[in-house]
Amino acid sequence: MHQDHRALGLAPLSTDVPTVSGAIDIAQGKPVQPVTLVRPHAAARAARFFVEKFPGRSMYAVKANPSPELIRILWDNGITHYDVASIAEVRLVARTLPDATLCFMHPVKAEEAIAEAYFTHGVRTFSLDSLEELEKIMRATRNAADLTLCVRLRVSSEHSKLSLASKFGVAPHEAKPLLFAARQAADALGICFHVGSQAMTPDAYADAMERVRAAIVEAAVTVDVIDVGGGFPSSYPGMEPPPLERYFETIHRAFESLPISYSAEPGRALCAEYSSIVVRVEKRRGNELYINDGAYGALFDAAHIGWRFPVALLREPESTVRDHPFSFYGPTCDDIDHMQGPFLLPADIQTSDYFEIGMLGAYGSAMRTAFNGFGSDETVIVADEPMVSMYTDVEREAASNVVTL
Ligand SMILES: *Cc1c(COP(=O)(O)O)cnc(C)c1O
Repeated sequence: MHQDHRALGLAPLSTDVPTVSGAIDIAQGKPVQPVTLVRPHAAARAARFFVEKFPGRSMYAVKANPSPELIRILWDNGITHYDVASIAEVRLVARTLPDATLCFMHPVKAEEAIAEAYFTHGVRTFSLDSLEELEKIMRATRNAADLTLCVRLRVSSEHSKLSLASKFGVAPHEAKPLLFAARQAADALGICFHVGSQAMTPDAYADAMERVRAAIVEAAVTVDVIDVGGGFPSSYPGMEPPPLERYFETIHRAFESLPISYSAEPGRALCAEYSSIVVRVEKRRGNELYINDGAYGALFDAAHIGWRFPVALLREPESTVRDHPFSFYGPTCDDIDHMQGPFLLPADIQTSDYFEIGMLGAYGSAMRTAFNGFGSDETVIVADEPMVSMYTDVEREAASNVVTL
């Protein structure tokens, strides 16, 4: 499938990906297919922000966007550890960054995947949430003595936009036997959790850390490392979170009385601003725009969970008409290919207009398919600012002349 090519790096971007100054230049070229814009400077800035300001170790959650180009940018800007969840992600990062440290943080793995990760790729950190998985890890690594085993605790997702609370994790009050057994088997014992994606308040981490603390006390084991997972938010219409520094402070405070080293697994926050798409309006029906990308392309979250993304009309001269709420239909013949929005665009938008949909670097780019013959790999590097940013106050208009790659 198309997705595999991108996700697993089988068809990496050619080295001569064109660079233009900004989204408006793409629209002027009147592309027939949707075009993915990537902003290396935005990913580099996010990586440096975490490396410099997050007081623990920052490990990139590869599933958010497995593009080899992005992974190299993060590495070049100080991200040395990578949270991988499948053997294909292990191979991808091992091939792209031979010196990176990989942590296999999926709590339910194939035994063959564990063995290959351990013996072929040097992976030493694994997560688990059951005794069964512990036995699997020990069997697959032939009772290795150098493992870091991270027990995944179930914590609340109530402060997040996307729950990760039902599938994985052992309840804190049931964790004792597993923590005890993992302590016996591990060289280093860890605890990990995930508060859910797009956590809208730092309280999510404070609450989770209370549960971790209770589990440690109850199990009476020595814990070497705590991983606070992902969930660090990005900015979307109707979802403007507090500054990331507030999250970092809250987490840091939780560790002041718990002298244990810690890490985090940001996915979304490191790559949301990395890419966007330019789409064309193929038809307008009242407040509905039929566009050339959709639910089976980069807009999975917009369709399936009603996520709203920032949009901007790319027309010169700019429209002076006031904004109006629109919903979108994607290009496939499927009714599900519908993005409710509302997305605010100038009321005079029409067929053959182009607009940009921002903040698609996390999950959007990673989930594209070629269903129904739609979807395109065309990618261009741009030097203008992302439509919104957690890392700078600079508006795109002000920045477009000064940013260099
Ligand atoms: C998805 C995932 C992440 C990344 O989450 P974000 O919300 O994108 O930061 C981190 N850790 C684990 C175990 C995950 O499954």
